[in-house]
Amino acid sequence: MTGQRAALPTHRALPTAEELRLRTDHYVGGRWLVASQRFEVRSPIKWSHVLATVVRGDAATVDAAVAAARAAFPDWSRRTPDERGKHLDRLADLIEAEVERIALVECVDVGMLYRSMRERLVYRAAMNYRFYAQVARQLEEPVWSTNGLWTRVVRQPAGPAAIIIPWNAPFMLATWKTAAALAAGCTVVLKPPEWAPLSCCVLAELVEAAGFPPGVFNIVHGYGDEAGAALVAHPGIRRISFTGSTETGRLIGAQAGRNLVPYTAELGGKSPFIVFADTDLDAAARMAANQYDDAGQICFAGTRLLVEEPIAELFLERFYQAVARHVLGDPRVPETTIAPLIHPEHLARVEGFVERAVRDGARILLGGRRAVEVGDLWYEPTLVAPRHNEQEIVQSEVFGPVLTFQVFRTEHEAIELANSTAYGLAAVVYTSSAERADRVARQLRAGTVWVNTWAARDLQAPFGGIGASGLGREGGQWGIDFHSDLKAIQWREECPR
Ligand code: NAD
Repeated sequence: MTGQRAALPTHRALPTAEELRLRTDHYVGGRWLVASQRFEVRSPIKWSHVLATVVRGDAATVDAAVAAARAAFPDWSRRTPDERGKHLDRLADLIEAEVERIALVECVDVGMLYRSMRERLVYRAAMNYRFYAQVARQLEEPVWSTNGLWTRVVRQPAGPAAIIIPWNAPFMLATWKTAAALAAGCTVVLKPPEWAPLSCCVLAELVEAAGFPPGVFNIVHGYGDEAGAALVAHPGIRRISFTGSTETGRLIGAQAGRNLVPYTAELGGKSPFIVFADTDLDAAARMAANQYDDAGQICFAGTRLLVEEPIAELFLERFYQAVARHVLGDPRVPETTIAPLIHPEHLARVEGFVERAVRDGARILLGGRRAVEVGDLWYEPTLVAPRHNEQEIVQSEVFGPVLTFQVFRTEHEAIELANSTAYGLAAVVYTSSAERADRVARQLRAGTVWVNTWAARDLQAPFGGIGASGLGREGGQWGIDFHSDLKAIQWREECPR
């Protein structure tokens, strides 16, 4: 069985570097740092099209950025949350004033759908700054007394923070992660992803326009094993906040351990999508088909479909119908729902997973090939029935439009299968029973469990993974706490005011 998907060929001209009007230099200490070493940034919509060349930072650039962040730290950290919050709110205003430009840049650089960027995600990015400004303003310092010993807990901004982000949703992640650090009173050095650095170039311009004191917000472009590695190893860094692959997360974790620097890691996922027989099957099937959004390049996508046996055939039928509504095409076109993969290397990697699965006895139920009629980097929404649960295709993150399909007979078996990988980022449960939802959710090994929904985010909730999906939590107060040193001030009896 295969879905019938309309394919929209790409023929519209892509914007040139001049049309994008990007400043592609480092932003350090409130100034633009030009360098002769540069790397090319190509568009996944048409790989031969070079969108820009961006400066390539090295250890010396990182030194300069950390020095600027250290110099700016005493003043920034001493400001009140409200003073810092005004800068964050201003940055949010500027982001909202540039919605179209940011949406277009992210669309042609990453392949994210223009429509969702324009209508939702850029606003959410602005909200990240407003939200964290407000969290910091409202935080209280707990005070209590035990047997006449008083304790007050104060949060002290930790110092310069290294922020490293991946190529999927870079604008969202850059704003989310820097917002928490800046609101907490830390200064930041952001290292954007080399495969998709352009929306962070726009961010640098907006940071400059927002009037942050020089050195509070620094951006160093470059490769992970060069600028990234130098940044996380730098002795002037007091916090490392990383989002990316599990493999890189381990490398950075080792470095953070050597320097004894607190580290949060938001890493890969292989999240289960569990469908019980008592659920609204159409809703479940439609949401399951949404796991192909952004060509499956979403860390918390529910990529392992686990369906209760009596409804398995019916579910597949509805799922295929829902997948058939997907439209592969140019992400600038409003009808498109599935865009290209980010990079030829990544496409080859995704393809490799599927080929090895088939060689190892898995069956392709849907897709399983490149969509060459659309363009070079499109891959068909693919569904694989594994031969057994230990296969690589079930156990490893593919990070493409590839889901697996497995059947379970009991609630216990569903939970066992769901918890059987090294990852633990998210899980999705479809059931009409509130008791079952609660019982199952509590037993799932995941930082987030969505019941009868997916990808809904409340910024106040903690977000993060278990096991190979990461360390620590972002979101709400947890984000501020991570960037703070907590100090207990204790005294006897009378409280010194
Ligand atoms: P990646 O680990 O290859 O790169 C991420 C970032 O780390 C890039 O900026 C890169 O330059 C940098 N980097 C690479 N090596 C480094 C090193 N040695 N030292 C310091 N920095 C280094 O990941 P990717 O391919 O860009 O992103 C995809 C991955 O990110 C997927 O695994 C996905 O699940 C994960 N992800 C997780 C979340 C989450 O919230 N858990 C969100 C988005 C993406």
